Amino acid sequence: MVRSCCYPECTNREGSPVSFYSFPLDDEKRDIWINVCQLKVYRKSFKVCSEHFLSTDFRDITDTTRGLLYNAVPISQEGTTRPDEIEYLEECTPSEPENTWILSR
Ligand SMILES: [Zn+2]
Repeated sequence: MVRSCCYPECTNREGSPVSFYSFPLDDEKRDIWINVCQLKVYRKSFKVCSEHFLSTDFRDITDTTRGLLYNAVPISQEGTTRPDEIEYLEECTPSEPENTWILSR
């Protein structure tokens, strides 16, 4: 099966100069991804490409093939309500609930 991106209106597929990421295993986090991608159904084979994340969501911001950080969430299509990147990183301390920026939309 050809890997392709399930993000709305994204036409990236295997061979495009992007990386593909599986949905998180964690139910809550996966629901957030499903929401952002506006999916009505979810399959384990679904992937989201690296275009829908901020550079700060990757383990190595200069190399998007190195994997996503644990807290990474795709940017919503209607534009992100995520605070600026520095603020977001500060919110990711262990004492804070994860992904507050998207749940408070
Ligand atoms: Zn995509």
